Amino acid sequence: MQAKLRVATQRQTEMVDITRQIQEALAGRTSGTGVCHVYVPHTTAGVTINEAADPDVVIDLLTALDRLVPRTAAYRHAEGNADAHIKTALVGTSAHVPVDNGRLVLGTWQGIFLCEFDGPRVREVWLRMLAEH
Ligand code: ZN
Repeated sequence: MQAKLRVATQRQTEMVDITRQIQEALAGRTSGTGVCHVYVPHTTAGVTINEAADPDVVIDLLTALDRLVPRTAAYRHAEGNADAHIKTALVGTSAHVPVDNGRLVLGTWQGIFLCEFDGPRVREVWLRMLAEH
């Protein structure tokens, strides 16, 4: 099973909870058990799993990344978005989530987030179900 999601981000940096979209894409396509590979085919946006219950957590994450990787510094990349590339390298561009009978198996507080670092723009999230035999 494969699927592609499109996510329109609203801000320059943002973490968008895409858990429900992923669950809905899975539910329409598989009732299988295995692992869902969540992949973001971008160099200035990534994906991570973190707390989805308290929205302050993602604000703290973005604030901490801003502190670690300032928007402007002595970067060589001439496009002007070196910070976005570095933040993407830090969070990564893929995640793996267990799936039981077509349902994501996440911890109580976990959500799957698209991490936008050079928005707003339309991003893709590619899903591929790796099923148990
Ligand atoms: Zn660039």
